[in-house]
Amino acid sequence: MFRLMMVILLVTLVAFGLNMVIQFGGVVTLEWADYHVEMPTGYMLLIILGTLFALWLLFMVMGWLRRLPHRVDHSVHQHRQQRIQNALEQALLGIAEQDGKALTQAAKSLRHALPKTSLLPKLVHYESHRVSGEVEKADEAARELLKEERTRFIGLRHVMEKAQAEGNHPAALQFARELQKVRPDLPDTTQSLLTELKYTGRYEEAASVLEELQQQRFLPAKKSIREKEHHEQGVLLLMRSREAMVQGHQEEAMHYAEEAYRHQPSFEPVAQHFAALLAQAGTMRRATSVLERLWKERPNDLIAQQYLTVIPAETVKKRLRRAKKLLTLQPEHPAALRAVATAALEVDDTMQAREMLERALQKESHPASYQLMARLLEAEGESQDEILSWKEKARDSLAPSWRCGACGHEAREWHFVCPSCQVLDRMALRQENAAGALIHKA
Ligand SMILES: [Zn+2]
Repeated sequence: MFRLMMVILLVTLVAFGLNMVIQFGGVVTLEWADYHVEMPTGYMLLIILGTLFALWLLFMVMGWLRRLPHRVDHSVHQHRQQRIQNALEQALLGIAEQDGKALTQAAKSLRHALPKTSLLPKLVHYESHRVSGEVEKADEAARELLKEERTRFIGLRHVMEKAQAEGNHPAALQFARELQKVRPDLPDTTQSLLTELKYTGRYEEAASVLEELQQQRFLPAKKSIREKEHHEQGVLLLMRSREAMVQGHQEEAMHYAEEAYRHQPSFEPVAQHFAALLAQAGTMRRATSVLERLWKERPNDLIAQQYLTVIPAETVKKRLRRAKKLLTLQPEHPAALRAVATAALEVDDTMQAREMLERALQKESHPASYQLMARLLEAEGESQDEILSWKEKARDSLAPSWRCGACGHEAREWHFVCPSCQVLDRMALRQENAAGALIHKA
């Protein structure tokens, strides 16, 4: 409003002035050295106004030119911001969709748009190689990440996983410890540390880390998880007990075996180890009761076998009586029938052995029954051909008792670490051996 009034005032003044000049006329004379110029006053005024206008225009143009570099800068900056934003979107989508190509592109754009010291291109670069499965390039990118404090965690996790994949557990343990220092609150890092402690045989430390892991939980664990952890604790204690035995520390071995049994009474390796130690220490009643409890829960030939031989220097008659106890606890169970048959053969009661064995064979076709049949025929004085045919039948299907749940490797003994695929604690009793699952199909 004020401006408009000023412009109106200015125009009025100029018009008034021009009117004055036209009305009064007159001539302006300029003299400078030898020059002599005469001109009407109106012209003179026009020249002055024109000059002022030209100066104003020049001033405006100068100002615009001075701001030009800044304007160009601003647009370049905006363009770059847009590129960074696009590349970031592409990178995040690439990670979510595990799209290696998109990540490679995003890394390239970010490298162009950001200074060399920026972490962002390095991170996306690493992810692109990891997702694409380019192992060597990912290793290289991870080494870069290891150098920076802020990306150290990612670098460490990479080298730890690599050491794990190579089966280099001492190195993996070292990296897992460092990871744990960087992020002690993360269950995943604690879990990795626990795994590597198990692999490197540090069972005592593993047990305390397992407890830590339980404390890190936000919510109360589900029943299945609690059971799994009981199992883990039981197995760790079993390993400590075995270790103590190797070192000749009998009392310690017994202590850990008992603790292990408290956690995991129905896991065969734990119960069987405890029973063996109890028998060694001369506490036979407890040894047999541990095996009987396991037998009631999970009857199988392995336990029956240990049960029969657990008491050293026992008379064969007493052994037969105890075998019959297995049959009372699990009536008509094929493994119990075989146990009685075995004990009957030892007292030369072939009649009883044959009766038991025939009952067992009616229930299921099991290699252990074939083997026993061969022994029985030998005791009965049968022809070698007949005996051999049973032996062969047994050999064809007689397999080790334990099988790895990860790779299917079979072994005669339980192993904490699978000898074939090195996976931890996945050995389970073979289905065919556990609870007589191989039912006669003929
Ligand atoms: Zn395996």
